[in-house]
Amino acid sequence: MADYKAPLRDMRFVLNEVFEADKLWASLAGLQGAVDTETAEAILETCGQIASEVLAPLNRNGDEVGSTWKDGEVTAAPGFKEAYQTYVEAGLNGLGGNPDFGGMGMPKTLVGQVEEMVQGANMSFGLAPMLTAGACLSLNYHGSQELKEKYLPNMYSGVWAGAMDLTEPHAGTDLGIIRTKAEPNADGSYNVTGTKIFITWGEHDMAENIIHLVLAKLPDAPAGPKGISLFLVPKFLVNEDGSLGERNAMGCGSIEHKMGIKGSATCVMNFDGAKGWLVGEENKGLACMFTMMNYERLGVGIQGIGAAEASYQNAVAYARERLQSRAPTGAVAKDKVADPIIVHPDVRRMLMTMRAFNEGGRAFSTYVAKWLDIAKFSDNSEDQQHADAMLALLTPVAKALLTDNALESAIAGQQVFGGHGFIREWGQEQYVRDIRITQIYEGTNGIQALDLIGRKIAGNNGAFYKLFEADINAFIATQAGNDAMAEFIEPLKAALENLNDLTQWVMDQAKNNPNEIGASSVEYLHVFGLTALAYMWAKMAAVALPKTGEEAFYKAKVGTARFFMKRLLPRYIGLTAAVRGGAEPLYELEEEMFETA
Ligand SMILES: Cc1cc2nc3c(=O)[nH]c(=O)nc-3n(C[C@H](O)[C@H](O)[C@H](O)COP(=O)(O)OP(=O)(O)OC[C@H]3O[C@@H](n4cnc5c(N)ncnc54)[C@H](O)[C@@H]3O)c2cc1C
Repeated sequence: MADYKAPLRDMRFVLNEVFEADKLWASLAGLQGAVDTETAEAILETCGQIASEVLAPLNRNGDEVGSTWKDGEVTAAPGFKEAYQTYVEAGLNGLGGNPDFGGMGMPKTLVGQVEEMVQGANMSFGLAPMLTAGACLSLNYHGSQELKEKYLPNMYSGVWAGAMDLTEPHAGTDLGIIRTKAEPNADGSYNVTGTKIFITWGEHDMAENIIHLVLAKLPDAPAGPKGISLFLVPKFLVNEDGSLGERNAMGCGSIEHKMGIKGSATCVMNFDGAKGWLVGEENKGLACMFTMMNYERLGVGIQGIGAAEASYQNAVAYARERLQSRAPTGAVAKDKVADPIIVHPDVRRMLMTMRAFNEGGRAFSTYVAKWLDIAKFSDNSEDQQHADAMLALLTPVAKALLTDNALESAIAGQQVFGGHGFIREWGQEQYVRDIRITQIYEGTNGIQALDLIGRKIAGNNGAFYKLFEADINAFIATQAGNDAMAEFIEPLKAALENLNDLTQWVMDQAKNNPNEIGASSVEYLHVFGLTALAYMWAKMAAVALPKTGEEAFYKAKVGTARFFMKRLLPRYIGLTAAVRGGAEPLYELEEEMFETA
């Protein structure tokens, strides 16, 4: 059965050595006195223990038994309710929350590591705190003081949970066409009516109340995305004194049967004139939701890394024990009937690919989290603007790149097990099924790619892109004259030059053909992503190279950096050629010619 150990050594390396988190935190006005290396270490340790000992053992059970629905009530899989209690009692639920309302105000660079451990141990469980954190974030930024005082403290403490209700049967990517209505009442509240589908943990028994953030349209709203408003709709109405009142006019009609994350309830939510309160301004709901979605998009990327790390750990253990055939260079385990499969080049390729994507992804998600921290906690408006631009650019990359790589990793982790990888008992196939959703929800990866090249690059004529390029060039400059680093810096430089040219090429093509952006987007995102990972691996190599004599960890880090540069980074060459193939081949067929029978 699959096992999970929190990768604390690597998290410490990324936080303390690569990004020098203590210096970053000390430099940010809004974090003064809130966190230091010691506090961070204590939080990581606590979470690591809960992830490995409490959440991971429930992962299989969640998959096998799942949540159950009866007469509108959802019961979480056995053990989930107790695990949730352990998790919230350890204070992990409100880690990133606003201290004015009971949150702990911790930086995302740290919270991201905690999220990775929780998701790595049990993705289905991890979705519950993730959605609550996202709902809190939106409420904290856009809600009135009254709403914040009434709801945030209980949400941060985990007594109440949160859910996010956007999708409708006919409206997923295009939220501008939703039909849920909100009609104003004389007392300032609204009556919300409509049906939402696919609502993660929309109903469950782990918390006393569930606070839904629901997108709906006012009676006189303009058509399209500019006519959407955001409403807070609690499962139980909350009395003036904070106690729970009557049940709101809403309920869970059913839960979905699905491919993965079976431990989480995916709910159809019916609102029948449920009482709700406006969050933010009328018709500005989409902007409010994006506050939550940007946070969650990075969170979904982190989910991918977490689960792929778990798959990697099990694949390594198996590859060291499973005996099949002899090494091409001659028998290694001479006293055994065959060698452990880790001796074979192809098994090595799979393990190294997983490792390079997971560790590179961990560094990249921490890099993106660094910009989130600067945007949130700096008191320098120029730095904040810079960080906001970097975040806008990098968030779709973090979501799509890390989840696409996570699926590749998990499939490799399954393949290492041969036929046993296909069998339930070993747990490797669950990671493949669970990770698959990360490419779909929170905006499909296709939509992330479109957002990157369309809105975030072509939309401002490459202004945000130039900041990213400058950041990489500044790092490259710090390595000038360092001959030992040339093996990492030269491929990084080549990848960056290629990306610069390709970015300009796509923007030029798009001026003549509106389809060019969409046609190039997915491959372009991966060329961008591979370049970003090359930057991360060069950064990590720069820290690890001088320390290879100190600890095997650093030697492994440098070895993995070499593998990335030589075996994974060159993928950008083929992807670049595909982008340059242009949009025309996609439109060779008339629509009816797609029929094959
Ligand atoms: C398990 C699960 C949990 C979920 N949790 C939640 C939740 O908690 N809350 C919530 O509100 N929603 C949730 N969702 C919904 C999820 O976010 C949507 O399914 C997703 O955004 C895609 O929407 P859709 O399914 O309607 O697909 P569609 O929008 O119909 O898209 C179908 C395909 O067309 C592509 N496409 C659509 N428009 C374009 C375009 N303009 N250009 C290029 N390609 C395009 C898409 O990329 C996709 O490949 C969940 C879904 C699942 C399956």
